[in-house]
Amino acid sequence: MKILLTGAAGFIGMTTALRLLARGDEVVGLDNLNDYYDVRLKLDRLARLEPLPGFRFVKLDVADRAGMEALFAAERFDRVIHLAAQAGVRYSLQNPHAYIDSNVVGFMNILEGCRHTQVQQLVYASSSSVYGGNTKMPFSEHDSVDHPVSLYAATKKANELMAHTYSHLYGLPTTGLRFFTVYGPWGRPDMALFLFTKAILEGRAIDVFNHGRMKRDFTYVDDIVEGVIRVLDRTAEPDPAYVADAPDPGTSNVPYRVFNIGNHQPVELMEFIGHIEAALGRQAQKNLLPLQDGDVPATYADVDALSAWTGFVPATDLRTGIGRFVDWYRGYYRV
Ligand code: NAD
Repeated sequence: MKILLTGAAGFIGMTTALRLLARGDEVVGLDNLNDYYDVRLKLDRLARLEPLPGFRFVKLDVADRAGMEALFAAERFDRVIHLAAQAGVRYSLQNPHAYIDSNVVGFMNILEGCRHTQVQQLVYASSSSVYGGNTKMPFSEHDSVDHPVSLYAATKKANELMAHTYSHLYGLPTTGLRFFTVYGPWGRPDMALFLFTKAILEGRAIDVFNHGRMKRDFTYVDDIVEGVIRVLDRTAEPDPAYVADAPDPGTSNVPYRVFNIGNHQPVELMEFIGHIEAALGRQAQKNLLPLQDGDVPATYADVDALSAWTGFVPATDLRTGIGRFVDWYRGYYRV
């Protein structure tokens, strides 16, 4: 298959590209290499992909309408995996426009490209953040997600709504995957595992929000990639069992799906930190702080729908996954 993979220099993008290339797919990896975090890390991820047969890199911003139209006019893709986005909840409080450009305008350009070139399936990253302050656990795809508490979450929910219209109007098969806190080697420098590991190794205190009572359904990156690929490989025929948020008979014959993809095992931040301390052999100094604006106290994925559809089962426990991250971090930064 020839696949357009956006966000290829990103954490999940690189890991996904490696899997696709290993099985012989042709991957056109797109990224704008922005400086939201250390560009060197993005370039080093790309450097792992560029020598591999079947990989080609395109430096482009998904919000660049003319550039995206030219790309889709020049090449035919069988399927598209769209992971490029402005990520991060806290950054969205300071830089709201970045989210509209990358996540809304960019998504629009992806939808249009897919529509005009009859792409067989669009798989895109949504997020557990769409559940907002929902307290019904575990989070199910049937829960109402109309009350996002950050602009980041709102743009991800907007993607699902936009995808629905394209599936409905043009028969474009779309599958949104709501990723739950992804971690693992080559992970993002703005996320807790990276920040905590770095601070502990440097002897600095770590900021522990919600006084450590925050719960997250941490999901290992290889499990996320496994789910993405299982979805990608399904032909996206209409799913008669799928009921959208507002049950409507008109939506049941549309090739539109949204699934949670998580570990189904939420863990308190204090326990998470304990695993990092054990892997590093060092104790953390903790600044206990209140819940931050835009953050939710807990996430917990019900993954039954994705399991039923693809046979997906998360396979990596937190201790193993954190150990792999710490090994990577120490090797990469030589600390
Ligand atoms: P990442 O920031 O490492 O990867 C995103 C990549 O997209 C980056 O390399 C960035 O340069 C690129 N990018 C951003 N805006 C772009 C634009 N306008 N045009 C082209 N490229 C652009 O993040 P990640 O953790 O790998 O996340 C991948 C996807 O998964 C994102 O859509 C993110 O919102 C979603 N997601 C991630 C998590 C998580 O825990 N990591 C959780 C939920 C959802």
